[in-house]
Amino acid sequence: MKRLLLATPTMHEEELRYISEAFEKNWIAPLGFNCDGFEEEIARYLAQGGKEQLKCLSLCSGTSALHLAVKLAKVKRGDYVLCSDMTFSATVNPVVYEGGIPVFVDCERETWNMDPEALEKAFEKYPQAKTVMLAHLYGVPAKIDEIKQVCEKHGAILIEDAAEALSSDYKGRKAGTFGDFAALSFNGNKIITTSGGGMLITKNAKDRDKAFFWATQAREKAPWYQHEEIGYNYRMSNVVAGIGRGQLLHLEEHKQLKKKIYFKYKEGLKDIPVSMNPYLECSDPNFWLSCMLIDKDCKTGFMDVYDRLNEANIESRPIWKPMHLQPIFKNNGFVVKGDECVGEDIFSRGLCLPSDIKMTEEEQDYVIETIKSCF
Ligand SMILES: *Cc1c(COP(=O)(O)O)cnc(C)c1O
Repeated sequence: MKRLLLATPTMHEEELRYISEAFEKNWIAPLGFNCDGFEEEIARYLAQGGKEQLKCLSLCSGTSALHLAVKLAKVKRGDYVLCSDMTFSATVNPVVYEGGIPVFVDCERETWNMDPEALEKAFEKYPQAKTVMLAHLYGVPAKIDEIKQVCEKHGAILIEDAAEALSSDYKGRKAGTFGDFAALSFNGNKIITTSGGGMLITKNAKDRDKAFFWATQAREKAPWYQHEEIGYNYRMSNVVAGIGRGQLLHLEEHKQLKKKIYFKYKEGLKDIPVSMNPYLECSDPNFWLSCMLIDKDCKTGFMDVYDRLNEANIESRPIWKPMHLQPIFKNNGFVVKGDECVGEDIFSRGLCLPSDIKMTEEEQDYVIETIKSCF
């Protein structure tokens, strides 16, 4: 039997049409019609016919999009940036690229994302902080209204790391449209993929153009190569953007399949002492990865389940290990709401489950039965 994986790319036919067009026109370099088209299509998709004007920039990764967002937020050496604690390191590394100092903010139990009350406490402790980096974990939107309120109160810029949350809704609006800047990822394991890539979301052409300038080696307007700032080579290729355009046509379908997987787990695991990763009633997550949380007093540990699944040729993975527990960030600040650390608790009991949309019902039944056998 083949190994059941967390999430792998799911390709259709349209991707090849866009790629073929790039080949036929010999437009293989970065920049080009597929990049332009992809940016416009993502902007239109995220705005959903709303009045908001979004300006997008296609880039080589979600991490590069986050880096340029941090630059647009004007984070400078020594600046504190209040960051999600339980997330992938790519959320916070770009802060460090610019010399900023991440301060980690604990998560809450209702979405597993940054706790707005802990964020308020963080601002009391670090009143000079002017930027917040918020990730929507596993495609579940954070408590966005509350977070935005705290940001506005303190005059802080909000960057949304929506790498895992493309197509997730919060009160009828798409994740990635709430922050001053946002980043998407099209890495191979994400809900749609370009094999690798990312998108920076801004609210106006000026910001988008500035990011474009940095992403294309910071070339000043001159006949020769003239440089007044440090640049990067962060652009997406026209071939890769073609994959993205084809994938985007199937985003809603991917979301519905992810959702079906989540609810099948929820139903299948209801008689054992576990719960699924939670979300707010006012949100409609993309359920990028289904995760389970083992009840607190249960004898079965998450690594028992991990090992049993692994023996059964099923991939699973612990929840993102909180950043404040990472050796590289051991000297950084960390703020919790009360006495307990929610992120450490979730990390010690949670597991990401196979959520590949090509997984059959029988395969998922097999995963569910294997999990149940651990309890
Ligand atoms: C995948 C991911 C990123 C990075 O995206 P890449 O395209 O792999 O650079 C950033 N943040 C989070 C939360 C992610 O899951």
